[in-house]
Amino acid sequence: MSATEVDTLVIGAGPTGLGAAKRLHQLNLGSWTLIDSAKEAGGLASTDVTEEGFLFDVGGHVIFSHYQYFDDVIHEALPKEGDWYEHQRVSYVRSKNVWVPYPYQNNISVLPTEDQVKCIEGMIDAAEVRIRAKDQPQNFDEWIMRMMGQGIADLFMRPYNFKVWAVPTTMMQCKWLGERVAAPSLKLVVSNTLNKKVAGNWGPNATFKFPAHGGTGGIWKAVAATLPQEKLQFNKYVTSVDAQGHTVHLNDGSSIKYKHLVSTMGLDYLVENVSLPDAAVHTKIKTAVKEGLVYSSTHVIGIGIRGVLPPRIGDKCWLYFPEDDSPFYRATVFSNYSPNNCPQANVKLPTLQYADPSKGTPSSEAKEGPYWSLMMEVSESHLKPVNMETILKETIQGCINTELIKPEDEIVSYYHRKFTPGYPTPSLGRDAALATIQPELEKFDIYSRGRFGSWKYEVGNQDHSFMLGAEAVSRALLGTPEITLLNPDWVNGRRNHEMRLTK
Ligand SMILES: Cc1cc2nc3c(=O)[nH]c(=O)nc-3n(C[C@H](O)[C@H](O)[C@H](O)COP(=O)(O)OP(=O)(O)OC[C@H]3O[C@@H](n4cnc5c(N)ncnc54)[C@H](O)[C@@H]3O)c2cc1C
Repeated sequence: MSATEVDTLVIGAGPTGLGAAKRLHQLNLGSWTLIDSAKEAGGLASTDVTEEGFLFDVGGHVIFSHYQYFDDVIHEALPKEGDWYEHQRVSYVRSKNVWVPYPYQNNISVLPTEDQVKCIEGMIDAAEVRIRAKDQPQNFDEWIMRMMGQGIADLFMRPYNFKVWAVPTTMMQCKWLGERVAAPSLKLVVSNTLNKKVAGNWGPNATFKFPAHGGTGGIWKAVAATLPQEKLQFNKYVTSVDAQGHTVHLNDGSSIKYKHLVSTMGLDYLVENVSLPDAAVHTKIKTAVKEGLVYSSTHVIGIGIRGVLPPRIGDKCWLYFPEDDSPFYRATVFSNYSPNNCPQANVKLPTLQYADPSKGTPSSEAKEGPYWSLMMEVSESHLKPVNMETILKETIQGCINTELIKPEDEIVSYYHRKFTPGYPTPSLGRDAALATIQPELEKFDIYSRGRFGSWKYEVGNQDHSFMLGAEAVSRALLGTPEITLLNPDWVNGRRNHEMRLTK
């Protein structure tokens, strides 16, 4: 088959690829095409629907936008007031059988007294260590000990982060943290504890938006619909990239020649399947991938439940679980995000099981709702294996153990899907590996960007990913610097107005 030719080729129709495509369309400087192996846009920001009509995202997806350009684009795609729901962030940590409002350290007054003492003693020790320290913490575990101390480390930070990342905190760096972990104030912690006060601390942005229809995936399908459809090609799988020949080969035998390539495939896959003229360089970057890039998989497990949303759940959005009475690190009350994430109350569904199957076998008769739903996330790595056969059962039991559901609750829908990779781990060797790999690809006009394209968790959310794609295009075509890739702390610490859809 002969090769087609474009100025810019984008691989992937997730948020990063769509960011690149949106910018290409806006700049209108040369020809471009976007290809994706999937049948539609969205990538990891997609939404599945169960047979019974329950929607589940790829884990809890909440938009914390740092960029005006990103906001311009999603509001152009979903412009009507009724396209979105706006929610207060209501988040708790399940600890010692109580719900501790997030952030944990500001609300230890709800814990048993002996745990309050452990936390405060640890924070005092940590403050002393901080005063004396002459160097920066060398890994995430040292950061936790210096910032929060032994008590909070043992009760929350270490067990929770192992459940999220599937590697111990000693194997992670701490430069990625930026704004993600609330810095504790010893004064506030002590006064809240003595005054038996609870306090939220969400900073300036205590609300979030969620699409009314189609889950998070609905946003990205709508963004894709604003682009010229003839330039988007789905069901096209990239098998190899010839760097020197500036050509991408596809599984249907066709190829596409390009001047600039924005790849949002996993960087590990790209390095494995790129051909470079210098074999020694190829070996060097393959070694960097092997030694420096770490990921975990994410199991998303959803359940649809018959009944009115119980008051104990109320307006909770997402909940964190550091302890070992549940396999999941996070649960999202997904039906609270949009009523359209569940079937309507008049839809008749049979009960598949009582949450605790020892409660008996339910009748197979289909009955009306109302319905609500929970979505849980479980991480997996070689250090933290997961049994595919039993994880659904263990998750439902975990929901009972943590009082999310009652043993007699009627489950009417299940969802379980494993995503590999799910999280790009900020491992100790990551930055050195990226510094070795990326410049070698850029020499051949290959810009590998996105959650796994550039492998930086701290700029791996939807807004960041979208901007990584848009900024890669601006760099390739206009020579402007890529702020998000190069300065994660800068973009995360401010509202970024520089790029606009109308400029
Ligand atoms: C569990 C979880 C929770 C998250 N929570 C949040 C959150 O709360 N807020 C938030 O903003 N973000 C969240 N995210 C991140 C969000 O999903 C990512 O920012 C986003 O999906 C990354 O976009 P991307 O385009 O870089 O990659 P992807 O979404 O992975 O897209 C890559 C695309 O490339 C395609 N592709 C890959 N290989 C090939 C190939 N060989 N040939 C052709 N096409 C290929 C894929 O089909 C895919 O469509 C979460 C992600 C996960 C997994």
